[in-house]
Amino acid sequence: MNLTKSDFTVARTCGAKLYYKKLHYPSLNDDNPYLEFLADGGYMVETMAKLLFADGKELGNWAEPDKAFEETRLLLEAGDGTFFEATVVHNGLLARIDILRRVGNTLQIIEVKSSSVDSEADGQNPFRGKKGGIPSEWRPYLEDVTFQTIVLGLAFPQFKVVPFLCVVDKAKSATANATYDKFRLRQINDGWRPEVDYDGNVDELRKSHVLAIIDVSGEVLELKANVESEAARFAATLQSNPISRIAPEIGKKCKRCEYRLPLGQTEKNGFHDCWGKLAEPAPHILDLFRVDMLGGKNNDLVAQFALQGKAKLSDVSTELLSGAFAPRQNLQLECSAAGRESMSPILKEILSSHPFPLHFIDFEGSRLAIPYHAGMRPYEQSSFQWSCHSILNSGGKIEHTEWLNTEDAFPNFAFAQTLKDQIGNGGTVYIWSHYEMDILREIRCQMDKYGHANAELAHWIDNPTTRGNPRVVDLCTLAQEHYFHPSMKGSVSIKYVLPSVWMADTNLRANPLFEKYVKTDSAGTLLNPYATLPPLPIGEEEEVVNEGTGAMRVYQEMMFGRAKNDEALRNGYKRLLLQYCELDTAAMVAIWMHWMNGAK
Ligand code: SF4
Repeated sequence: MNLTKSDFTVARTCGAKLYYKKLHYPSLNDDNPYLEFLADGGYMVETMAKLLFADGKELGNWAEPDKAFEETRLLLEAGDGTFFEATVVHNGLLARIDILRRVGNTLQIIEVKSSSVDSEADGQNPFRGKKGGIPSEWRPYLEDVTFQTIVLGLAFPQFKVVPFLCVVDKAKSATANATYDKFRLRQINDGWRPEVDYDGNVDELRKSHVLAIIDVSGEVLELKANVESEAARFAATLQSNPISRIAPEIGKKCKRCEYRLPLGQTEKNGFHDCWGKLAEPAPHILDLFRVDMLGGKNNDLVAQFALQGKAKLSDVSTELLSGAFAPRQNLQLECSAAGRESMSPILKEILSSHPFPLHFIDFEGSRLAIPYHAGMRPYEQSSFQWSCHSILNSGGKIEHTEWLNTEDAFPNFAFAQTLKDQIGNGGTVYIWSHYEMDILREIRCQMDKYGHANAELAHWIDNPTTRGNPRVVDLCTLAQEHYFHPSMKGSVSIKYVLPSVWMADTNLRANPLFEKYVKTDSAGTLLNPYATLPPLPIGEEEEVVNEGTGAMRVYQEMMFGRAKNDEALRNGYKRLLLQYCELDTAAMVAIWMHWMNGAK
């Protein structure tokens, strides 16, 4: 078995994961919609990069690496050229290189990433911090290109190897030939990755794109010795049959391990293989809120507990808790032990002090490497939808309003204007986390940048986005400070808080506002409202949107994909988006009502 560059990157996060990856253990990353969404964006960036090289030749044969390497060898020996996805193998190491160029006696590696730099703001070298070191966020990418440089250098010692990273440059604006709609993903039946068709003017794209290709020879030189020895260590575990596993070092890092699947759900479970019996306690010590800070940032108390055979949440004593997260952690320990929810007595008092009307708002938007519209910069926000539930007065009517962009134009100013028209300047604005205010602040900056002159709108945005404005109340902060339910475990995400209050409060389920979300599964178990959103017929299939990534994907399909010129499909996608965003603000109202009703 060869060690590939992606194997190397995974093994750098934890050696034991290499074993699980090679043996195809089930992982939370399998069918992860967010990772798939990011990967799709990555394929588009890669396509843009390849289009910059008119002489590029795509190589294939993914299934037979030795044959693919032979093809690479023959092409490189034949003379200068540019090759996409060239395979290079040496002594159990395998590199598949995005763009490989032979220029005389030099081989250039161009590794394409959809991460971004800002060539105006980052200074001379974006891959170096203020003190000259390599920042942790760039290290995995630079180690990846170092790995390839090593393999290529070993396989072709007669050449000099020069490594480059090709990344997205946020200082550049997209022209009409460098926008999202020009790149169309196409699934190939027997392929493991989609192909991307380009539908713009290639000559114009080459003159004006949003990429930066940066020489990283210095960084690679610095990382080379370490990457070389680690690659050799990892590759050695793949040479035996069966392959061997690097001894797991269990600890707090395991909280976010992609192999931490619920026990009993799959035949193979990497987390269970690493932790053994210590994987089984429920609630588990890893469920503690901000367990990464338990005992201090640079201390791993979870690892120390595991050495003593302890992994229950209740093994954590309150004397160990300190710092800003201690009150929340204490509350979690206390309520988990008692199996009850907790609500501060002052929570209702706080909520009661907020003036009517109460507006519960939620936004949907995307931030893509290749922007939707010409003139936008990479990763600039596009806000395409809002939902608002309003309680007009105490015990009074609840109104739902919404807005979804359907015009093929930059949507943010219409987004802000329609929201302003809806919620005006009176009453209270409830949000869940700071996301909504961050988006409004960004739109305010875009007004200046794009010359959108509208003093009234600018003034309106300046008001709620002024930090400390009492009109805006973050329910997530209130949840963190005043509310806990054992089923939330260590999370204050609305996706955890809603199901907790939903299961706890029969009054909510009896409220006509939430009637459509009261459903049970075939065994009669009450469903989480997010699981009740009905799939809708889209063409010949049925689809459902119940998380933010799905909303972004469906919006793109509606605006730029197969639904662009198909009214029926478009309407189907619109309904999917509207029903999802409506539930997010209905969820906030449900939580607010539960808090006003008091703990059960
Ligand atoms: S459970 Fe922990 S030790 Fe095991 S693979 Fe995951 S991160 Fe590594």
